Amino acid sequence: MESFGKKLIILIGPPGSGKGTQAEMLAEKLGLFHLQTSKLGEAKINNPELVKNNLEIAEAKQLYDSGKLWPHTWTASLVIEKVEEMASLGKGIVLDGSPRVIHEAVLEMPIMKALYGSDNIKIFEIKLSDEESFKRNSHRRICKLNQHPIPNFPEFENITACPKDGSEIIVRTLDDPEVIKKRYQVYLSETEPIIDFLIKEGYNLVTINGEQPIEDVQRDILDKLW
Ligand SMILES: [Zn+2]
Repeated sequence: MESFGKKLIILIGPPGSGKGTQAEMLAEKLGLFHLQTSKLGEAKINNPELVKNNLEIAEAKQLYDSGKLWPHTWTASLVIEKVEEMASLGKGIVLDGSPRVIHEAVLEMPIMKALYGSDNIKIFEIKLSDEESFKRNSHRRICKLNQHPIPNFPEFENITACPKDGSEIIVRTLDDPEVIKKRYQVYLSETEPIIDFLIKEGYNLVTINGEQPIEDVQRDILDKLW
């Protein structure tokens, strides 16, 4: 659907809410660019030359390895750079990794608003309880070749090879129980407060029940678009 146009969709939700999967589906259906801060950042921290020569990137790698968030100004700069690029191409965007804290929102939202217009920005909060988040993340798997995430939903339970490239599936080492619990706590204390901020700033925000199957969450999102 190439006529969907210059719109910007932001998905916010705790680890395991499936926001990455939802964003990917929206990107495919609507012809949007899927802006993944994790990918933009990982491209940098997985480059040994950059890590060696850039203190900011070395620090980001350390935080990442211990399950913490990247410095917010760094994440925001990655996002802003990409948003400006896509806006100049007239492309729509879906984001699922930023803003993650108010500081990021404060840096990013005015630029998004200036480039896309607030009427063309839609924010979805995908709600998920801590129990459900833990359950979904404690068995999180990725593929060996390209690190494609394999969502922890019943429909993916029995697959043994990556649906995209056929490679072996492994358990992500980052996801030990303590790290999972910490990531949910970080979400509650740092990410969730953005919702109020965005409402106060007058953005169009919709809450979605993230405990439903993937297809139902997607349908709810598509129902609430423009
Ligand atoms: Zn794969």
